[in-house]
Amino acid sequence: MNLGIAGKSALVTAASRGLGRACALALAREGVKVTIMARRADVLENTARDIAASTGNPVGVVAGDVTRDEDRRQALAACPAPDILIANVGGAPPGNWQEWSRTDWLEAVDGTLVAPVELIRATLPGMRGRKFGRIVCITSALVKAPNLTLALGNAARSGLTNFVGALSRQVAADNVTINCLLPGPFDTDRVQVTLAATAKAEGIGVEEARARRAAANPAKRFGDPAEFGDYCAFLCSAQAGYITGQNLVIDGGNYPGML
Ligand code: NAD
Repeated sequence: MNLGIAGKSALVTAASRGLGRACALALAREGVKVTIMARRADVLENTARDIAASTGNPVGVVAGDVTRDEDRRQALAACPAPDILIANVGGAPPGNWQEWSRTDWLEAVDGTLVAPVELIRATLPGMRGRKFGRIVCITSALVKAPNLTLALGNAARSGLTNFVGALSRQVAADNVTINCLLPGPFDTDRVQVTLAATAKAEGIGVEEARARRAAANPAKRFGDPAEFGDYCAFLCSAQAGYITGQNLVIDGGNYPGML
């Protein structure tokens, strides 16, 4: 299927590794002019080189922290009028809720809620004016099925979910869609961190925690980031203009609910 977005521009944040990188790759493969942002210039440049080599499309890079105003401004200077925004963030650390301080909460809200909102605020008016926009916020399946160890970031993500749900209805008539993509367990570096927390909490090794997690999933495996990237690219397609305001779980069937 031709997604009809060749020549469009996209800003993908937190994209040197994992799910953000997979989204950038899938968009570049469709001929989208992609700019990626993450903190470490060396990793970011390697990623851009790899994507360009495999797709034939050059990828712009901005080394910066998505939680910082000035760094977001630089990203938007490098990609001033994106048609597509993939608002991804690093995610808050797992932990014990009784140990989370006010500072931890404020950092989680800043990183997981405020950063995507600020990116949307800066890019949405241009999309509306051009009558084309696709915004995908990467949140988590845990927004629908809370897990206390990971509640720090996901509580803030629930706030983002509510905000973009309301906003999406205001801009749908301008052919601007806003959706949240909710990953379940995908095989990325981030999963190593959450598995280590599970292993510690359950008094088992990380490999055992990994095997149990895969076995507990209906698909009996972790997701491949490429599967996530392709889903994201479809949501950014010309054909997906009637899909908006949704929270789309991609988790091998792990979330048991029907809604
Ligand atoms: P990852 O650790 O593999 O990659 C995270 C990327 O974000 C890296 O490129 C890193 O450099 C970048 N990054 C981190 N903090 C940043 C910051 N402050 N500014 C700019 N870039 C930053 O993680 P992932 O698995 O790809 O996860 C992506 C998002 O999806 C996270 O928010 C995570 O919480 C969420 N998520 C992941 C899973 C999963 O199973 N992988 C499940 C649910 C939710």
